[in-house]
Amino acid sequence: MAGRRPNRRAIKRHCSYTTEEAALILGVAKGSVRRWLKAGLPHLAEQRPFLILGSDLRAFLDRRDKPKQRCGLHEFYCFRCREPKPAAGRLIDYTPRTALSGQLSAICEDCDTIMHKNFSASKLALLERQAAVSFPQGDPRLNEMGNPRCDDHFEKELKR
Ligand SMILES: [Zn+2]
Repeated sequence: MAGRRPNRRAIKRHCSYTTEEAALILGVAKGSVRRWLKAGLPHLAEQRPFLILGSDLRAFLDRRDKPKQRCGLHEFYCFRCREPKPAAGRLIDYTPRTALSGQLSAICEDCDTIMHKNFSASKLALLERQAAVSFPQGDPRLNEMGNPRCDDHFEKELKR
């Protein structure tokens, strides 16, 4: 595992680097850095050669090393913070797309950006243990069961 990873600690957050410099301090090929640029590594495009901010480079590598940096059930990937963030106040909306899945929306705890993710309706019960889920368009599970008021039945469903 170790060894092949670029040495992120060599990057100084407040410095900026050319492609060559970044490759050199990280001990990777220049081609790798160019690939990262294509894959979305931010850089100062007005400058030639490109300059990459150390902080951007670090954030990019952090993210890349944990490609599926698992958001917990109640967490979302915030595009502004560039990392998984919990829903502010643990408040999450579920909007069904199909009977089996839908979209969760919440607000980033740190930057107030609206975050979304796809979610399977089968995991809603689990999510509800960690967050307050609301259903602006109705709870899909209630339709399926045909008896929205029968809480007993509901409990049994959850405990299975
Ligand atoms: Zn955020």
